[in-house]
Amino acid sequence: MSSVSIAVLPGDGIGPEITAAAVRVLRRAADVYGFALDLREAEIGFAALETSGTTCPDGVVEMAREVGAVILGPVSHNEYPPRTEGGINPSGTLRTALDLYANIRPARTHPAVPSVAAEMDLVIVRENTEGFYADRNMPSGPAEFLVVPGVGIAMRKITALASQRVARVAFELAAGRRRQVVAVHKANVMRLTDGIFLGEMRRIAAAHPDIAYSEMLVDAATAHLIRTPARFDVIATTNMFGDILSDEAAELAGGLGLGASLNAGDEHAMAQAQHGSAPDIAGRGIANPASLMLSVAMLLGWLARRHGRDELAEAAAAIGNAVDQALTRPATRTADLGGRAGTESMTDAVVAAIAEQGHGRWIPTVYVWRRTKFASWRFARLPAPAWATATRTKPWTSS
Ligand code: NAD
Repeated sequence: MSSVSIAVLPGDGIGPEITAAAVRVLRRAADVYGFALDLREAEIGFAALETSGTTCPDGVVEMAREVGAVILGPVSHNEYPPRTEGGINPSGTLRTALDLYANIRPARTHPAVPSVAAEMDLVIVRENTEGFYADRNMPSGPAEFLVVPGVGIAMRKITALASQRVARVAFELAAGRRRQVVAVHKANVMRLTDGIFLGEMRRIAAAHPDIAYSEMLVDAATAHLIRTPARFDVIATTNMFGDILSDEAAELAGGLGLGASLNAGDEHAMAQAQHGSAPDIAGRGIANPASLMLSVAMLLGWLARRHGRDELAEAAAAIGNAVDQALTRPATRTADLGGRAGTESMTDAVVAAIAEQGHGRWIPTVYVWRRTKFASWRFARLPAPAWATATRTKPWTSS
């Protein structure tokens, strides 16, 4: 059986700490579920700026493209120097270079973790390659201009193709969950661009009459997320709205430290926590590693589907269950979640719990993405889904 190749890019701030933690968990899961790993670590961010003169060396992007699967630690791109001095956002660059068009961001409450929301279990599917992100929506150069001093213009790109791809992912995810999709937009103001987005959403909705489809303005969505978060199943939206709403959702569900995500394309995928590099807590050994561990589980789920390898699906489920188990006790979860553990002791707990997990249960959202007959057959064997999935409508309990 061929080894699983993954590029590992630790990043800035807490990036190296939580990446090391997620890799420890991945190595343990590989040992327990019997697959070999070929991990190729490379520098990005400030470490690469020092050695290569850029925060995102071309060689790293090429290596990631060749390997196909990536674990990306958070980066401090707000602190980077201008592009002309080597400051390139590795996150945006990899998303566009590898055509990772869907950013899948689950948020769900855990029974033992204090949270603002009483109960929620949703997935945000965020368009990942265009929108209001001036650094990635032009073939070359940024889409942000200074007209005269004190007057700036930023352009938002929305295409039918990108909107359609995100719509498809949202409906395919919803088909394995509670069968509801909400398109979040601002078409009352941005009639043309969000008109294109909604047009594609409606077209794909018409092909899925068994899935309830509705639309909501983004300002209302921020309020409904706080007031009635349990009403949401799958939210599909454009890039910047998705970025903002997913941080809100993660925080409502317990905290940014739980915010896992997968950047997914047809050929490549990248695990990446939702949050940033948290410079305020970097180097203190207190960062919550759960977000990146759960992102790695989603990546394993994507690889399992792509390569038809059950052991990767089982390892993904075991990581999810082991993180869930660590979250149940204050002694094994970090301070941002009201716990007493540091990064290392929480990681110890997750590593120790992996071998105890039975097969199945935790199913990352991406398992239900792009269902094929083959995949349905394979994953039907996994019982009692837990994380942001299919048939489950209530938070997972150990029963
Ligand atoms: P942030 O997400 O890094 O931090 C916001 C707050 O959440 C901070 O109080 C931080 O301590 C806390 N937090 C975040 N992750 C945590 C974790 N795993 N455990 C415990 N607490 C955690 O946002 P910011 O401070 O606005 O941004 C810092 C840097 O990160 C900036 O340079 C920004 O550009 C960058 N950023 C990177 C990404 C990315 O790499 N994908 C995303 C967002 C922001």
